[in-house]
Amino acid sequence: MSIIKLLPDSVANQIAAGEVVQRPSSVVKELLENSVDSGAKTIKLIIKDAGKTLIHVLDDGIGMNKDDLKKCFFRHTTSKIRNSKDLYSLKTMGFRGEALSSIASVSHMSIISNQDNNKSLGYEIKLEGGEEKLFNEVISLKGTSISVKNLFFNIPARRNFLKSDNVELKHIIDEFHRISLINHEINFIFINNNNELFNLSKSIFKERIIRVFGNSSKQKLIPINEETDLAKIKGYVFKPEYSRKTRSAQFFFVNDRFIKNSHLNHAVKTAFDGLIKEKLYPSYFLKINVPLNSIDVNIHPNKTEIKFDNDQSIYAILKSSIKHSLGQFNIAPTIDFENNINLNTPYSYRNKEASIPKVDYNQAFNPFDNLTKPIDLKTKDFEIINTKDFVKTDQFKNELEILKTNSFPSFQLKSKYIITKTSAGILIINQKRAHQRILYENFLKDLSNKINPVQTLLFPIKLDFNSEEIRMLKLLEAPLVHLGFKFNAFSSENIEISGIHPFLNKKNINELFQDFLRNKDYSKDYAVHTLNDLIAKLLSKYSSISSNENINIKLQESLVNDLFACKDPNVSPFGKLIFKLISLEEIIKIF
Ligand code: ADP
Ligand code: MG
Repeated sequence: MSIIKLLPDSVANQIAAGEVVQRPSSVVKELLENSVDSGAKTIKLIIKDAGKTLIHVLDDGIGMNKDDLKKCFFRHTTSKIRNSKDLYSLKTMGFRGEALSSIASVSHMSIISNQDNNKSLGYEIKLEGGEEKLFNEVISLKGTSISVKNLFFNIPARRNFLKSDNVELKHIIDEFHRISLINHEINFIFINNNNELFNLSKSIFKERIIRVFGNSSKQKLIPINEETDLAKIKGYVFKPEYSRKTRSAQFFFVNDRFIKNSHLNHAVKTAFDGLIKEKLYPSYFLKINVPLNSIDVNIHPNKTEIKFDNDQSIYAILKSSIKHSLGQFNIAPTIDFENNINLNTPYSYRNKEASIPKVDYNQAFNPFDNLTKPIDLKTKDFEIINTKDFVKTDQFKNELEILKTNSFPSFQLKSKYIITKTSAGILIINQKRAHQRILYENFLKDLSNKINPVQTLLFPIKLDFNSEEIRMLKLLEAPLVHLGFKFNAFSSENIEISGIHPFLNKKNINELFQDFLRNKDYSKDYAVHTLNDLIAKLLSKYSSISSNENINIKLQESLVNDLFACKDPNVSPFGKLIFKLISLEEIIKIF
């Protein structure tokens, strides 16, 4: 006798509900998303007892006609996709046709909908545990109103499992934030136990963030703006000093849909490296737009996790654009040198063209490829290159002329720090870290140059390694050759180097290669930018001046100028603070 049976719909729906409806906030999410998909201009959310007693969502969207209302709560009924091809060009929030059936199967649900603008007549359907109990003609405005009562009335175990009202409300507010932030062109009203928690009228994104997170967030926002062929990134981060103890203000919206992505979160976190204390989280509100066919939204049932085709590249674009903005908006404006050098825009970042980063080592995947050439600051002899080489704009040139006539106001402390004055106060710069930053950005740039100079060594250097080490170092051969290294041999036991990058001190070569071997990360995950980043970092480490080196006033001057021409003058390539400004106010307070 056959023992396999098709499960009754009611059971199948309850099982599906386990996936879709975990708690009241999941219902809120699904209903709000349906209202957004319906093209509503205004959406109202009313809840009682953190959604345990009532969740009611009303919209003025497209509505449903009689037939659709009779079908919408069946499993896999959706108006949003017709065939599998549609899956790759989805613009709606929902598409699985599972939400209403799942919610209906574990609650008392009533749906009133009216599709016709000209008639005030609509239909109402009442369901209990997914079964139709009543179907009526009713008076209603255009749009849809769905109320969900007594959630999990038929699954006591689930109902008992719900947390306190405070915790459940917190989850609901989180969902409300996610949906109302990105859909800022829709009016939202949110009422909890007769208290109006939010009343948000249609606005631009920035305004919506301020309305949701309070007026004080206005002064915390730093804009992020980056456009390449792979992705457009637009949005805001909070200044580092406003980082939070929780992750509650972290939002990625990919193609207008809230998503979680630990890899991208890591990119933001590293962009903030050295600027925020441990155990605090940066706050961000970032819209990332990528071509529809370059993501897979289907990997998670709740669709909050997605997979990008160009994961590594988007990581790099995101990290650099945030770093750039942090440098520009956070620290740079406070450093206003008395001789008025324009530090805020030392290079033509804003006007650069979007470019497709190619997966090819000499592209370095650096979205800032078209920077003006930074000044060279050589390690060994510290020769100052003619200022003509780095002065791009006439304005900048004139300011440098002025600077030449007034001697640069700086001195060295303990052969370790450079102290200089600005109109805002006293600036203390860690010379070694500053130099590492300058060199690091130069090396990264060199990695994207077509050709680089080689400094030939009179006596080639031979280094011995075992075969495993050689296998790993081999990964670095191409980018290093591109950077001016010349290898006479790269055999199974040793490498022989006959040329190096001109900035590098040959005394440090052995240590540099040992350090490459210690940083094994690149062998696991040698995405081009990771590899280039590592090379630039370690080369800067072994090429920089030490923290015990006398440097003359000219060199101090060019170090300061070069530092503030960097994309990110705040932290060293290893995430350490480079300078500290002691403001005039702080000095006044001392006395
Ligand atoms: P999905 O959103 O994945 O299509 P749902 O179960 O959430 O599946 O909804 C089923 C269908 O019911 C939707 O495709 C849509 O046609 C209709 N629907 C649900 N909510 C609304 C609403 N607020 N306004 C108009 N139509 C709606
Ligand atoms: Mg839906």
